[in-house]
Amino acid sequence: MTTPWAMPDFDEHEGIHFITDDKCGLRAIIAVHSTHLGPAAGGCRFWHYAKDEEALVDALRLSRGMSYKNAMAGLPLGGGKSVILANEERAKTPDMLHAFGKAVDALGGHYVTAEDVGISVSDMIEIARSTKYVAGLPNSPGDVGGDPGPHTSLGVFLGIKAAVKWALGKDSLKGLHIAVQGAGSVATGVALHACAEGARLSIADVDDEKATKLAQRSGGKLVSPDEILTLDADVISPCALGAILNQETIARLKAPIVAGGANNQLATPEDGERLHERKILYAPDYVINAGGIINVCTEYLGDGDATLVRRRIEGIPARLEQIWREGSETGRDPAAVADAMAQRLIGRA
Ligand code: NAD
Repeated sequence: MTTPWAMPDFDEHEGIHFITDDKCGLRAIIAVHSTHLGPAAGGCRFWHYAKDEEALVDALRLSRGMSYKNAMAGLPLGGGKSVILANEERAKTPDMLHAFGKAVDALGGHYVTAEDVGISVSDMIEIARSTKYVAGLPNSPGDVGGDPGPHTSLGVFLGIKAAVKWALGKDSLKGLHIAVQGAGSVATGVALHACAEGARLSIADVDDEKATKLAQRSGGKLVSPDEILTLDADVISPCALGAILNQETIARLKAPIVAGGANNQLATPEDGERLHERKILYAPDYVINAGGIINVCTEYLGDGDATLVRRRIEGIPARLEQIWREGSETGRDPAAVADAMAQRLIGRA
């Protein structure tokens, strides 16, 4: 039997909580990677996993990712994540969400939850009936909170600009070709910001309708999902799936920059090195896509307004530049540099 301690992704998690409630059919895992900097914050994923082990691996990887993301964003938060193991029909009931909320509550604030894949704002409202340790609740106009997507998009856009300045020496995206993978929440904001600055866009999504709509709104060209990563563009911006940068795709990249909002873009740590060897500038995903968690954190802690959220998001380019600078001084790839910085910040160097 493989115990959680022996799993490659265990990485000294402070706690892994397995939750079962037969009455409502809830099975969930709450993974707390680190509370070194504050309460472990990270969303709740509602997903059907073919095997229970996959749910645990997902929770562990995502939770460590949140530790790194929150630390690198300069937030007073640790990292954690939860997964609710959905059945094949993905049946979700209010009782299940309430029971999950009770489990979060029992941790007394060590873990703070929010939306992730499969969990909507209305689900979060249900969960909030059982616990106060929740963020990502709807806000009134002008208040901090609500959908983190537009904040993530803004940070990614600013990060793309920083990458363009660093790698191409240009102050603007005007006339540059940005290839955006995805046409969902994050991709839409990135494409519209870039279009407003005069960039030329290519858009791909497996959902044709979404891709067509975004291409029309941004004046972009619709391309097939198979082509998008290998276009001869100035920037590839992955804003859809994780693990899209691997040995095979990296060998086919033509763009000098990869900077996008998707989580876990590198299939393996070696892929960061592969990008570096090919002299492709990479913006580490959990650094460039921190805008959403910055907004969530400000909402949860109640320590600032929309102006402060914007100022915090505007700090993303400087963090990326610090990583690229250290990378060029040491010869290490930016993903490895970012991981080492994050580990130092959470006291695990
Ligand atoms: P979303 O569900 O709104 O959009 C994702 C889009 O990707 C969908 O339109 C989907 O059809 C498309 N897609 C799936 N597979 C694809 C493929 N092979 N090729 C092209 N398109 C494909 O999700 P989102 O909120 O925009 O998140 C996008 C990414 O950014 C995810 O990796 C997410 O984890 C990450 N992220 C999101 C936020 C946020 O605030 N929403 C914050 C940090 C990171």
